[in-house]
Amino acid sequence: MEIYQRIFEDTPDALLVIDQAGHIVLANIQAETLFGYDRSQLIGQPVEMLIPTRFTRHAEYRARYIAEAHSRSMGGTTELFALRKDGSEFPVDIMLSPLILQSHHLVLCVVRDITERKAAQDELAQQTTELLRLHAELELLANHDGLTGLYNWRAFYEYAGQMLKTAHRRQENVTLLMLDLDHFKQVNDRFGHPEGDRVLQAVAATLKAAARENDIVARHGGEEFIVAALGLNEAESHVAAERLRAAVANIENLKTRITTSVGIATLAPQAQKHETTRVLAELLDQADQALYAAKRNGRNQVCHFNRVADIASPAA
Ligand code: GH3
Ligand code: MG
Ligand code: MG
Repeated sequence: MEIYQRIFEDTPDALLVIDQAGHIVLANIQAETLFGYDRSQLIGQPVEMLIPTRFTRHAEYRARYIAEAHSRSMGGTTELFALRKDGSEFPVDIMLSPLILQSHHLVLCVVRDITERKAAQDELAQQTTELLRLHAELELLANHDGLTGLYNWRAFYEYAGQMLKTAHRRQENVTLLMLDLDHFKQVNDRFGHPEGDRVLQAVAATLKAAARENDIVARHGGEEFIVAALGLNEAESHVAAERLRAAVANIENLKTRITTSVGIATLAPQAQKHETTRVLAELLDQADQALYAAKRNGRNQVCHFNRVADIASPAA
């Protein structure tokens, strides 16, 4: 029998044997070390002396376990803590196993201190959370314009490219609306650059609110904005552009009224698939030409690329 005693004493985990009433019957050396008690102070005492008092239902759970004893780990998803003699707490893993000895129902408890493992897990979880936060922040910075919060040029190119592919698949139109604020330089000159920035922010918010949810709204750079929309015919694209133009012209609470010119280009469904980058570049060029026709024609108006030829060139 000596070997069994040696195994009980020399197991690297703390071992406790509990009787049906929840009193400690046996404790090994590791249990003495772990909890800080002499064995004589443990034997005969309720096991609840080793459990923080906030676990108020432990005695109830213990009684239920003993009534239907089977081997299992304790806690499941809840974290378990044990209490040392000095009052300090530490996280533990606990395995329970029923023992029947000379018709006495006992429970063997294997207690393992997991302070280090838990600290490593907590640190890893914290690092993961921080990495996810940084990743989200970086993605936001990479895709959004710092001043207005709209998509930047890079993000616009990516999402508009996706929109072109969707349009090709569904055989729908893609519309680009290119906007350039009228005489914006004068805003800076008259009211200062910070007021110019405030105007750009107000315009961005207005465009975002006036566009449809699935439209892509981006800051093209400087005081130029761009909107990409799916499924509009030429007449509908005029209505959409006019809505944006009017929304900008009606912005209140600025030091001066601001207007915008809008150039429209429509890509009709293509029978053949062309390279997205090239198609997008052509469409942007058309919207740009339409925009400058709108400027030439007096500003604060919209112009479709298909009508550019109708607008007279400036006098040479
Ligand atoms: P037009 O009607 O022909 O478009 O005239 P405009 O004055 O708007 O055109 P122009 O391109 O000459 O001027 C654009 C101005 O936009 C010049 C630049 O100082 C200003 N601008 C560009 N980016 C910013 C910005 O981020 N903040 C501010 N405040 N101003 C900007
Ligand atoms: Mg400009
Ligand atoms: Mg301008």
